[in-house]
Amino acid sequence: MRLGLDIGGTKIEGVALNGQGEVIRRLRQPTVPGADGVITGINDAVAQLTGDRQEPAASLGIGIPGQIDATGGRVRHAVNLQLEDLDLREALAPLGIPVRVENDVKAAALGAYTAHTPQAESMAYLNIGTGVAAGIVIDGKLLRGQEGVAGEIGHFSIDQQGTPCACGQRGCIETFTGGGAVSRAWGGTGQLPLAEIFEAAEAGEPRAFELREGMGRGISAAVQLLVLSMDVSAVLLGGGVTALGSRLEETVHRHLERMAADSPFIRSLNLTERVDILPAGTFLAPLGAAQIAEESSWN
Ligand SMILES: [Zn+2]
Repeated sequence: MRLGLDIGGTKIEGVALNGQGEVIRRLRQPTVPGADGVITGINDAVAQLTGDRQEPAASLGIGIPGQIDATGGRVRHAVNLQLEDLDLREALAPLGIPVRVENDVKAAALGAYTAHTPQAESMAYLNIGTGVAAGIVIDGKLLRGQEGVAGEIGHFSIDQQGTPCACGQRGCIETFTGGGAVSRAWGGTGQLPLAEIFEAAEAGEPRAFELREGMGRGISAAVQLLVLSMDVSAVLLGGGVTALGSRLEETVHRHLERMAADSPFIRSLNLTERVDILPAGTFLAPLGAAQIAEESSWN
């Protein structure tokens, strides 16, 4: 049995896979921020997933926001979880299970790759949550790069005069498209600011219209960037923003078609056909996390 956990800002999701890679158990529990809360949460989740089985799990993969060190054991700068620097592998050694830690978006990319049919040779998972980042899978292997930065396209600037970004640049894709930046720019008080923005835009409210179109511009730029740099055959959109469903799809398609209308070259890339929006609540992140322990691209 292999275990996979996704540690999010508000919830932990987990799966247990059998020897055939089939999901035999799932769980969802609230996250308690801070090192003690996260470690206790992981131990509780492992106990629930293994249940009454006698033998320990073969591996535990953990997807978590932040920077992961080259050995896949330590996480740094997981701001939402209030973790500055935590050696998870060491902290979880008493479990007696081999542990592998991966950035949450990269883990989800592997899960999306496995779950997507037909299986593409190369694929990008574009996560649009509070922030924006992509995980890229080439020939079944996660692309990590020198420092694990591969896919951090949320901080690619598409407007040098644009809104300042937390990273120090202006007009990053994330300032157009990240749920955090867009909600702040809107300043509404609703529980679902993005849904509020899309509704107001449809009703003709000018500021909402501008924000919605900005999201379309940012996402279409991210799709273009992923296809031009990696020629991935599919770009799967995931993350909180996908709750907008067909409204988001319509906006993204319109912007991609506008790009194509102006350029025979961009038209030849068939960007619209490569984009898919993943349904919400699919447990892709813990599924991918369960696979990272087995994944062959680690040294
Ligand atoms: Zn930035």
